[in-house]
Amino acid sequence: MSHGRVGLGLDAHPVEAGRPCRIGGVEIDCPVGPVGHSDGDPLLHALTDALLGAVAAGDIGQHFPDTASENAGTDSAEFVRHALQQVVDAGFRVVNVDAVVQCDRPKLAPHREAICANIADLCHITPGLVNVKGKTLQAWPDGARDAIHAQVIVLLAPMTTAADLVGDDD
Ligand code: MG
Repeated sequence: MSHGRVGLGLDAHPVEAGRPCRIGGVEIDCPVGPVGHSDGDPLLHALTDALLGAVAAGDIGQHFPDTASENAGTDSAEFVRHALQQVVDAGFRVVNVDAVVQCDRPKLAPHREAICANIADLCHITPGLVNVKGKTLQAWPDGARDAIHAQVIVLLAPMTTAADLVGDDD
């Protein structure tokens, strides 16, 4: 019989004033935003790595090199969709997603519901199967604070029927 799989992803981006701030695919009004080659969304990058890791498909840098000009400014949802396709091609579906986002700004709480809904949509699961926890960086030394860190773990189960795939029919 085929067993489930877990995958783990970790990412961190420094932030700079005046940059757009997108976390988990949700645009957040904030004086600072993550610096990155793509849109710099650390949560979606960690999710991408978690999905790829669960099916032993390498990491985001192998699939989307940050030296490639076509990845500049990319919507990180594209990375997640690509990783999810690897999951489906390997015969699995996402069971649930748990995440931690660590940053001093923005505050995650007002956006948590929208982030969970967006990740659920990207992973073809219901929002109740996604959890995102916000943590501050207060315990970190000065100078290490202005960054956004994200960790994601996913559980996959073997896909037994086509009905296991929740469609994007909304
Ligand atoms: Mg990244």
